[in-house]
Amino acid sequence: MRAHEAGALHAEGYGNPSWLAVPRDVNALVPSLWSSSVSRGADGAVTVAGLSVAELAREFGTPAYVLDEADFRTRAAEFRDTYAEVFADVGGGADVYYAGKAFLCTEVARWVCEDGLRLDVCTGGELAVAVRAGMPGDRIGFHGNNKSVTELEAAVGYGVGRVIVDSFEEIDRLADVARRLGTTARVMVRVTVGVEAHTHEFIATAHEDQKFGFSLSGGAAAEAVRRILAHAPQLELIGLHSHIGSQIFDTSGFEVSARRVLGLHAQVAAEHGVELPELDLGGGFGIAYTTEHDPLSPKGLASGMAEIVDRECRANGLSVPHISIEPGRAIAGPSTFTLYEVGTVKTVDLDGGASRAYVSVDGGMSDNVRTALYEANFSCTLANRASDAPPRLSRVVGRHCEAGDIVVMDEFLPADVAPGDLVAVPGTGAYCRSMSSQYNHTPRPPVVAVHDGEARVIVRRETVDDLLALDVT
Ligand code: PLP
Repeated sequence: MRAHEAGALHAEGYGNPSWLAVPRDVNALVPSLWSSSVSRGADGAVTVAGLSVAELAREFGTPAYVLDEADFRTRAAEFRDTYAEVFADVGGGADVYYAGKAFLCTEVARWVCEDGLRLDVCTGGELAVAVRAGMPGDRIGFHGNNKSVTELEAAVGYGVGRVIVDSFEEIDRLADVARRLGTTARVMVRVTVGVEAHTHEFIATAHEDQKFGFSLSGGAAAEAVRRILAHAPQLELIGLHSHIGSQIFDTSGFEVSARRVLGLHAQVAAEHGVELPELDLGGGFGIAYTTEHDPLSPKGLASGMAEIVDRECRANGLSVPHISIEPGRAIAGPSTFTLYEVGTVKTVDLDGGASRAYVSVDGGMSDNVRTALYEANFSCTLANRASDAPPRLSRVVGRHCEAGDIVVMDEFLPADVAPGDLVAVPGTGAYCRSMSSQYNHTPRPPVVAVHDGEARVIVRRETVDDLLALDVT
């Protein structure tokens, strides 16, 4: 765990959680939490790609997701290049599928396409975005534990490069779709390896009790392989797939998972005489939402994973298959902050003489449900100005009719934060817009891409007309 980069005082009695130190400088931006072009300008306001947040708020309104294009594309390219290089050294190279569930719109899918990455989609809707962006079918992977026949037809019809099958029913449905369309569907088997990784911990065995995939220990995965092979030529089995969780900060969970899935890979070679050409190790690489998180670099992850795969393949006398990974959060998350305007501030006394400010902003759980859903921690800063006021423990809350409508559970903000100020919450590029809702009939915020001093809307703000558009009157 990393100490607070703004300098820790570790004061007691503020009501702050143990990981949140009182900052020496409440205006300091912790670099690991922000996209690379974020800093404070001479007037104290936060700037991104050379643009002041005050200008952005004036032009695009609040709340708004502000996406730093160069940061997103640089992270994507770093995964692409690092994995290709590191795995070229041990075997057949590697591909990166950006997990569109983290955040997807047509423009982002275009960046992913232009930058030579591949795309993981998990619904017909995400597939439609990929198609509209011109992503070639052979660079798309299609996930989902209950894909409809219509979705399978759309995917096979578009020529997706891999359908990651998740159930016995799907195997038969997909074979039928491929037969009707007169083609062959390339498939991977989603294997549940009995590992669910969260941060530094992973728990083996217990996590086969979930909806995704074919169990390894119960023999379902081996049976899925047999049934797919029996469906040739409608189905072509290209490899195995394993995804073990999210916000993972080390490679120990991948080690167990790779060992187990490669055990099945070896069993398939022995039983059927085929060395499957591909292996997907999923996504889930963690990012820093607060100072308690210390993620590995793509290089650290790739090297750790390559060593594990190389060792396991050697032990089984197999060549290293072509590897793929599916990072979403680690590419999209840090690229974006959400900009809110403060509407009200109230202070509540806590036990032990501490107090907490409730800072209400003009968004909330409709644009960021992660705090309410997962008790996720976020950080934030006063963005339109710097302040000389002392730090005060604060909770940033939304405008919805729920007491649990919390955006940032605990953060030190300057004690003079007032209505009209802007607050920026970093790390909202993944699973915020994509999981957003219109709860309380709240129009969703726009996504504003910033690059080299220019800002443009890539997803427009919803309007009240949008909210009413589906009502049949
Ligand atoms: N791949 C699969 C199969 C997933 O289910 C997920 C997330 O749920 C991902 C990739 C992306 O995970 P992350 O955004 O944490 O990298």
